[in-house]
Amino acid sequence: MQVIPLSEGTYTVDISKRFVPFHPQTDHLSDRPASLVVDIVPFLIQTSGELVVVDPGLGFQGNDGEFMIHSSIMRHGYSADDVSLVLLSHLHKDHAGGLAYGKDGAYNLMFPKATVYCQEKEMEYAFTKKESSSFDFEKLEFIRRSPKLRFMNGDGTLNEEIRFEISGGHTPFHQVFFFGTEEKKYFFGGDVVPQPSQIIRRFVAKYDFDGKLSAQRRRDYSMRGAESNWTFLFFHDGKTPMAHVNFRHQQFRIISV
Ligand SMILES: [Zn+2]
Repeated sequence: MQVIPLSEGTYTVDISKRFVPFHPQTDHLSDRPASLVVDIVPFLIQTSGELVVVDPGLGFQGNDGEFMIHSSIMRHGYSADDVSLVLLSHLHKDHAGGLAYGKDGAYNLMFPKATVYCQEKEMEYAFTKKESSSFDFEKLEFIRRSPKLRFMNGDGTLNEEIRFEISGGHTPFHQVFFFGTEEKKYFFGGDVVPQPSQIIRRFVAKYDFDGKLSAQRRRDYSMRGAESNWTFLFFHDGKTPMAHVNFRHQQFRIISV
């Protein structure tokens, strides 16, 4: 199994939920009050039978006009048409925006051959939040009507190498993914375990639907992953997108891989 982080860059985001490109060399955080800096890192996973994209990101274009996720995939020797599965932890636009591109009601799938999987209740939840700027509803409407969409309901497996589990916390039906075998397991925690720093420093985040549950789940997954030597995949950390976690003397440690 091959796992490749596909960085889509660094952004600031504030209460408006607009993602603005941020270049640490030339941009200053002091110019962007009340903003959070986040990296966006979708993952490409080659299993024995599928080429998987996990959380396709914002779907932004680079300076060359190409979609950044397409360029990254090509740099690793694959094309968008090779992708057979797209998995979604939840539907916020920084995770699901890269499902489709277009505007004014005319959209195309970013990965035209891929089957797209998300939790049915997560989709229902999103459409109860029509006032929220965390979602791109035009794209979600397009995806919801796409014959490529398949719904999951609860925990389960897609095949021998891919398992999913509802975590809740960040959103009510947020899910996490496990790839690989018992001996070599990769864990994608989406926005419940988005950065290694959140494993080390315990806190309850205001941006979560249920911050306490999210913190609890984060600790549970960290503990399980430390015991079983999972490789953690971090969607919001471009510097350390993949790592192992240790737990010793009541403290977590991150070992980058
Ligand atoms: Zn996110």
